[in-house]
Amino acid sequence: EYIELNEFCQHIFDATHIKYPDLQLNYKIDVKDEMYADPVLLTSVFQNLIDNAYKYSAPDRKVLDIRVQQNKKNFVILFKDRGIGIDKKEFNSIFKKFYRVKNQFNQQGSIGLGLAFCKEITAFMGGDIKVDSQMNVGTVFTLSFPVEVKKA
Ligand code: ATP
Ligand code: MG
Repeated sequence: EYIELNEFCQHIFDATHIKYPDLQLNYKIDVKDEMYADPVLLTSVFQNLIDNAYKYSAPDRKVLDIRVQQNKKNFVILFKDRGIGIDKKEFNSIFKKFYRVKNQFNQQGSIGLGLAFCKEITAFMGGDIKVDSQMNVGTVFTLSFPVEVKKA
């Protein structure tokens, strides 16, 4: 179905404020078309990336910037945190099932499936997920999905 991204994001951000009251969530949504997607699957992808941004950031650095943009071909959604960062050597591994980077933030309560799920779902939706990161500075996950313009 076609998703109105402003409204869709608002639902997620409202829930996130309640789930993580100490997360500073900044967002900018700048799109002109609706996005063809399954809202249940897209919500799960957002949820996983938000959970990670929260979990892998120190208590005084829980800040997440989300940008939703549209260019000629794609919707581009960026999740930028100020967390612990991910070493370049891990960029491929983190998308594998049950893979978890060894660090002090990774003790319990995680399975290592979140990003594998995000990768499968974005691929299923014809899109893509990429990571860029700097240790002790932060991480950016970028989702892109092809624009399918609504036929009249
Ligand atoms: P689950 O999502 O199943 O609860 P998880 O968070 O450990 O477990 P993934 O979401 O797949 O698993 O992430 C894989 C690994 O990538 C994590 O264990 C973590 O080390 C690293 N990682 C993921 N997101 C971030 C992030 N935003 N900042 C720093 N490290 C991250
Ligand atoms: Mg996770």
